[in-house]
Amino acid sequence: MTETHSTAARGDSGPEAARLVASRVLDVPDFPQPGVLFKDLMPLFADGKAFREVVDGIVAYHGRDGFDVVVGIEARGFVVAAAVAYAAGVGVVPVRKAGKLPRVAHSVSYALEYGEATLEVHEDAFTAGHRALVVDDVLATGGTAEATLDLVERAGGTVTGFTVLLELGFLGGRERLAPRPVHALLTV
Ligand code: AMP
Repeated sequence: MTETHSTAARGDSGPEAARLVASRVLDVPDFPQPGVLFKDLMPLFADGKAFREVVDGIVAYHGRDGFDVVVGIEARGFVVAAAVAYAAGVGVVPVRKAGKLPRVAHSVSYALEYGEATLEVHEDAFTAGHRALVVDDVLATGGTAEATLDLVERAGGTVTGFTVLLELGFLGGRERLAPRPVHALLTV
């Protein structure tokens, strides 16, 4: 397993959590296209002890009573969102790619490097005033996160936090989302 930045791992939950994530991520060059270094977190998901530590750490960071619902971004965000929701005893709302939701949905389109993507959430997904913690696996340019946060607010949720396991700091996603706070367990 490739251990990235194991000596100087940094993140918003401290060096120990950052090191844990760094020790369970695989760097896959040129996936899904040439020039992209894909950060594969499947080894973290597959390690029960490490995954539990990470999930408990996310709940502790925001406080067990700090959010009323967890929003997961398709598809790897679902893995994290469901676990965090279960640990905190709250529900989970999936934000899906276009055309997957069976009922009336809000949708938002945003620009990708090549082309456009659309995300959707059910119109009745949020109870008014419910505080939503949004989670995903990786923050890159922030386009996906920005669109999701807008979508949640449009659907009546109040975004109380945004957490990722890994942030590619050099791509400026955090700055793009400002002043909304970003919580990244590992920043590379
Ligand atoms: P972005 O909108 O550029 O912040 O991209 C974030 C979304 O794309 C997240 O849902 C990630 O799962 C995925 N993603 C983007 N870049 C990477 C990468 N280098 N490694 C793994 N996932 C990535």
